[in-house]
Amino acid sequence: MSFVIAIDGPAAAGKGTISRAVAQKFGLAHLDTGLLYRAVGKRVLAGDEAITAARSLRPEDLKGDDLRRSEVAQAASRVAAIPQVRAALVDFQREFAQRTGGAVLDGRDIGTVICPDADVKLFVTASAEARAARRHAEDVLARPDLTFDEVLADVKARDDRDMNRADAPLRAAGDAVTIDTTQLDVAEAIATAVQAINARRGSV
Ligand code: C5P
Repeated sequence: MSFVIAIDGPAAAGKGTISRAVAQKFGLAHLDTGLLYRAVGKRVLAGDEAITAARSLRPEDLKGDDLRRSEVAQAASRVAAIPQVRAALVDFQREFAQRTGGAVLDGRDIGTVICPDADVKLFVTASAEARAARRHAEDVLARPDLTFDEVLADVKARDDRDMNRADAPLRAAGDAVTIDTTQLDVAEAIATAVQAINARRGSV
């Protein structure tokens, strides 16, 4: 039986950590769909045209630490507002979701657009300040001059673009369970997600 878990939410809310943990716990494959948009964003920064880049993504484009850079994240959210870019990435994501044994996909539109029939949908969120504080603590190691205010401005700019675009905006699906991680540590956030998944699994 295939079991699909859709995990959406804004940047740095903890959905990547939760997704990896639940994929391991339930023995499911995991796709971080943000990597697809980051890979397109990176190619645009290198001079490629966005739609052409999305239509010709290669597996090796999804690798590399530089995909985590904040310029790449901002470029990703700009290309993610282009409907033809989103359309070019749909089939790959849906095929991944259909793999035997099931899958966890995390992103912005998994429960609303990519996998509207997912068995479990989670919407993982946190205050912009909590998310910026986490991102700042990670990124300041590599960039000691980075300020909290810069990261907060980046997080808010990305939220604004992701929530207000016309095509597949970031929002919780009507049947998603919302997990607010503002006051939760990593272990508590994972435990809350596992509990929500088990509750839904019991009724599938
Ligand atoms: O999740 P991550 O921060 O890596 O995503 C980078 C950007 O890619 C997001 O800010 C968003 O604009 C876009 N994205 C999207 N839909 C997804 C995943 C990511 O629009 N399913």
